[in-house]
Amino acid sequence: VSPRRRQMVVANWKMHGSFDFCRAMIPALGRAAQDAVELVVCPPAPFLATVSQLALGTGVTCSAQDVAELPSGARTGEWSAAMLAEVGCRYALVGHSERRQHHYEDDALIAGKARACLLAGITPIVCIGESAAERERGETEQVLCNQLDWLMSTPLWRQAIVAYEPRWAIGTNQAATPEVAQATHALIRAYLAQCDAQAAARMPLLYGGSVKADNAQQLLAMPDIDGVLVGGASLDIAAFLPIYSAA
Ligand code: PGA
Repeated sequence: VSPRRRQMVVANWKMHGSFDFCRAMIPALGRAAQDAVELVVCPPAPFLATVSQLALGTGVTCSAQDVAELPSGARTGEWSAAMLAEVGCRYALVGHSERRQHHYEDDALIAGKARACLLAGITPIVCIGESAAERERGETEQVLCNQLDWLMSTPLWRQAIVAYEPRWAIGTNQAATPEVAQATHALIRAYLAQCDAQAAARMPLLYGGSVKADNAQQLLAMPDIDGVLVGGASLDIAAFLPIYSAA
């Protein structure tokens, strides 16, 4: 019998929003949040403390979009996992493809960030995914397994969450089909299971990339898809709530 995995729906606001937006969104999300499905919001860093205060007692939890790999030091413009814990974050996205692309983050750095989170009691949501060219060349499995090897080199990796976000599906309105997403999630879980079957069976695997109200239900019905990471559609309450309700 496979253990029940936590279901979660994660709203990644990216570099969008304002104080007014936070003050409008968090109470509205709080009214929808149910115990059975965790509702996580990733606001831009300047709003993290505000959002985590607004979220207190609402059932909404807070995640950062990024974190430093060091516990402290001369790193202008960065923040540590311990700081995130102090402002009330439970999670941090790590290795989002936009960080990999625009900030040249590589797998070694991302593994370091995941490690820093785990040591500070923050659960990293580690994003992995292949490009369109890699999928066309038949390299998807190799790319993902390599990214997972880096994660599994991290001591406490069993407590992480993995988000599969194919690069070609992010912000393109071309989500993976439920079948392709399920097949890829099954591959990810099988690879993790080679290292630790129990941890693999327990680990939540999220899908991200053009999740919308009209595809969320089919994606979330798949046995190895435990939740979704939503970008664009998380900025509009009318678009987001049906996605959350689909879980
Ligand atoms: P999208 O973004 O839903 O706008 O495709 C997903 C993500 O980047 O996490």
